[in-house]
Amino acid sequence: MTIHYTVTLENAHAHLIDVHLRIENVHQTTLNLSLPNWIPGSYLIRDFAKNLIDMSAKDGNGNTLEIRMLDKSHWQVLSTDENVLGSVQVSYQVYAWDLSVRTAHFDQTHAFFNGTSVFLRVDDFADAPYEISLPKTKLTEQQGWRVASTLPKVSTDAFGFGDYRAANYRDLIEYPVEVSDFVEVEFVANGVPHRIAFTGKFERHKLNKEQLIKDLTAICETELSLFGAPYPFVEYLFQVMVTDNGYGGLEHTNSTALLCSRSDLPYTTDAKRTDGYIQFLELCAHEYFHSWNVKRIQPAVYQASNLSEPVYTNQLWWFEGITSYFDGLFLNMAGLVDSDTYLKRLSKEMTRVYRMPGRFKQSVAESSITTWTKFYQQDENAPNAIISYYTKGSLIGLGLDLLIRQQTQNQKTLVDVLKALWQKHGLPRKGLLEGEIEQLCEEVSGIDLTDFFKQHLFDKEDLPFEGLFSPFGVDFTLRPATGLKDTGGSTEETNFPVQLGANLQTTEHQTVRVTHVWNDMALHNAGVATSDEIIALNGYKMASTDAVESFLKGCELGDKVICHYFRRDELMKTEIQFNHLVSDRVVLEKNNQYGEALSWLKN
Ligand code: ZN
Repeated sequence: MTIHYTVTLENAHAHLIDVHLRIENVHQTTLNLSLPNWIPGSYLIRDFAKNLIDMSAKDGNGNTLEIRMLDKSHWQVLSTDENVLGSVQVSYQVYAWDLSVRTAHFDQTHAFFNGTSVFLRVDDFADAPYEISLPKTKLTEQQGWRVASTLPKVSTDAFGFGDYRAANYRDLIEYPVEVSDFVEVEFVANGVPHRIAFTGKFERHKLNKEQLIKDLTAICETELSLFGAPYPFVEYLFQVMVTDNGYGGLEHTNSTALLCSRSDLPYTTDAKRTDGYIQFLELCAHEYFHSWNVKRIQPAVYQASNLSEPVYTNQLWWFEGITSYFDGLFLNMAGLVDSDTYLKRLSKEMTRVYRMPGRFKQSVAESSITTWTKFYQQDENAPNAIISYYTKGSLIGLGLDLLIRQQTQNQKTLVDVLKALWQKHGLPRKGLLEGEIEQLCEEVSGIDLTDFFKQHLFDKEDLPFEGLFSPFGVDFTLRPATGLKDTGGSTEETNFPVQLGANLQTTEHQTVRVTHVWNDMALHNAGVATSDEIIALNGYKMASTDAVESFLKGCELGDKVICHYFRRDELMKTEIQFNHLVSDRVVLEKNNQYGEALSWLKN
């Protein structure tokens, strides 16, 4: 029994990847095939099968075999007579026109695909080895393309075209494939070879490779050393797609697919690390950390899933939240950002939680369970209705770390919990049941955390950060915003005199569209809704968000303002009253006890 795939990249203009599946020695009269409905790490039913086109099957003699569709993502190949199938060949095309890390994208500039978008699973033989041929084509030769993937090689040419082999289907979908004229950067961390492949349009000759190598080596070595050998991989690949304003990542066992903005890359012309570049490094640190935390240390329900139906766990506060807490902290541990920069960035992270009144409507545990329908399908009411298990989860991680450090006089930290998880669950691949992480936090720290988890994970209480930060010499305060673009942190600027309670966007035809409205704030109370277009305040045209901002800076609490706006194509008029200010921007500042008591940050 062998399962062999050939993936042909020729039809770039139609964005069609040609796939040919050959299975020999099928000793049964029917063969069931399927495609996953979701990809690990991204919790939304995406129905990848909707992009499959023109499927047909033949036997070893070239005779057509019937393919019966069983549901939206399951097929059955049937023998023409009562005999066993023997050799089966299935051909189809995959429409690849989604520039994201979760699916597939193919045009004349590159090809990228995840196994979940391209490879049918042979259901009765999901555990058999899967062989893949990726031949060079006229197109790949013309364009000078090479292959960047961690798919285990059998025999390939210098450009990476040739034969690969995955241990089984679950293994096969862990290795996304990028084929392009990427820029490759290599480095070694703790003896492990690492590669970065940058695809896309950017100032390639100005890319500061030395800086990248230095910074990523420091980050990867920090993470590798934290858990120690044996490491979860023998090589690692960052596959990076560079676009005008992309951002995102998806973790795999020994690689990650990233999308970044070209302005986030380090260039030889930059005087220092830009905020965008630090954000890119945090994204790398985040996805890299997932190699341990979620790819090996993982919920038991993930191990049991065949990716057909959603799986439910309340543990995403740990797998995404703790990963988010550490992605920033790793940069400080690696010596790339000092404590002042770290605290400034952390205060902006925290502001994202404190700006969400939805945190009092949804617990983090519920956010995790409902990720399929709420977090991954956010609508305009999200700030009022939900809380992110990434951002609030990372605050729970921060709170836990500070609490454990303070109560154990720094003898224990959250890193000790991570190490215990790695030894007990990651290395032996023993999936985590609900509640086991909380239990382990108590075991490792020796602290009764029943109330902590009840209040912050299952109930909706804010963490008591004033008290949590105080032993570390850091003051936690909340202040009102200083403008529409204020994202938190300490500032010299004066508070905004009034608040609309909305997110706004300048439209192409010079009006201001309301994208989010905060409940019980000025705009909400005036009856203005999301998607409405504000055209004038007190009779003055509002052609941009900047115009709104400067108008509001001239107002004061108690003022009433006439607002003209369109709802769909209907002109409406209302009065906005400014009655109160909300303090939802977080400021973290060192006080004169910083550094004398417990040390938590480097430098
Ligand atoms: Zn993540």
